[in-house]
Amino acid sequence: MPNIAVYIEQSGGAAKKVAWQMTAEARRLVDRTGGEVWAVVLGDAACAAEAGRQGAHRVFTAADDAFARYDAETWTRALAAFVATRRPDLLLVGATAVGKDFAPRLAARLDAACVSDCIGLDYDGGFRLRRPIFAGKCYAEVAVEAPVAVAGVRPNAFPLFAGGGVDAPVEAFDPGLGGFAPHAAVVETVTSAEKKIELTEAEVIVSGGRGLKEAANYQLIETLASTMGAAAGASRAIVDAGWVPHSHQVGQTGKTVSPKLYVAVGISGAIQHLAGMSSSKCIVAINKDPNAPIFKAADYGIAADLFEVVPALDAAIRTLD
Ligand SMILES: Cc1cc2nc3c(=O)[nH]c(=O)nc-3n(C[C@H](O)[C@H](O)[C@H](O)COP(=O)(O)OP(=O)(O)OC[C@H]3O[C@@H](n4cnc5c(N)ncnc54)[C@H](O)[C@@H]3O)c2cc1C
Repeated sequence: MPNIAVYIEQSGGAAKKVAWQMTAEARRLVDRTGGEVWAVVLGDAACAAEAGRQGAHRVFTAADDAFARYDAETWTRALAAFVATRRPDLLLVGATAVGKDFAPRLAARLDAACVSDCIGLDYDGGFRLRRPIFAGKCYAEVAVEAPVAVAGVRPNAFPLFAGGGVDAPVEAFDPGLGGFAPHAAVVETVTSAEKKIELTEAEVIVSGGRGLKEAANYQLIETLASTMGAAAGASRAIVDAGWVPHSHQVGQTGKTVSPKLYVAVGISGAIQHLAGMSSSKCIVAINKDPNAPIFKAADYGIAADLFEVVPALDAAIRTLD
């Protein structure tokens, strides 16, 4: 009966959505196989009370001044101490900037299997994890053979828990940081001035590409995104052209997203762009070239001029309430 630990990453005192998505998927699995889901919270434990309602059976918290600011060595040490003492069979970590940073280091420290960017989780006597490979062209099913594994999970791969969880007992653990000083320290964290919806967390994304013709026309994307309560993304072509910051870029060298709805506007659908968004639940493409590759990935396609379609779409959505 496997026990699955879930690292609850926080931002501004609240758990990231991916943390609860992982908790929910782990719970759905252990409800079939037996075993428990353990939420692991480092630092601010305000979100610990919610873990049970999100599907966790137990919550483990560790307090230390060192958790005030993220650094890979501290997080690795603390989570390694947790795994060594509690011995979960699998530790799930969000495939966020933070999770991607420390997960391989943690796996190496534990001599554990490391599987990144997972979008599926199963168990048949050993864990089987599903992940996209070759820039999303196909999927690999990875069988874990090591006694313990660290797996990165793509945000929005799993729905939240709908099972009506209950309060879970909270227990403190020793992160083993006594006398520990990391070799490198984060001295300052600068938050983007933009108060936009974070791409990797968004349920709806509207992205624009070179079909927009010029930087000023990105406003069309921002307006439609705002009307839809969506995040605004971009292809690399317009990031390289300096129209929008790199934080908007979706793709192989940008962000990986899995929203419920991805609207690609004036984007051709290069493999490197698809690598970042092909696991979206529903893809809508607007492109004037009916042979553009994006239409092969799309669930719905509008082969027309974006300068006509986008304002019309925006106006139509505004009439809905
Ligand atoms: C190593 C490497 C990494 C990369 N990483 C990324 C990445 O992370 N993300 C990424 O996006 N790209 C990445 N790229 C670049 C990628 O190969 C493409 O060049 C890029 O995605 C193209 O961007 P685009 O679709 O906006 O532009 P284009 O390919 O120029 O496509 C523009 C599209 O707009 C359409 N269009 C034009 N006018 C209109 C109109 N009026 N109405 C409707 N449609 C119109 C055209 O038909 C065309 O399909 C990478 C490339 C390499 C080599």
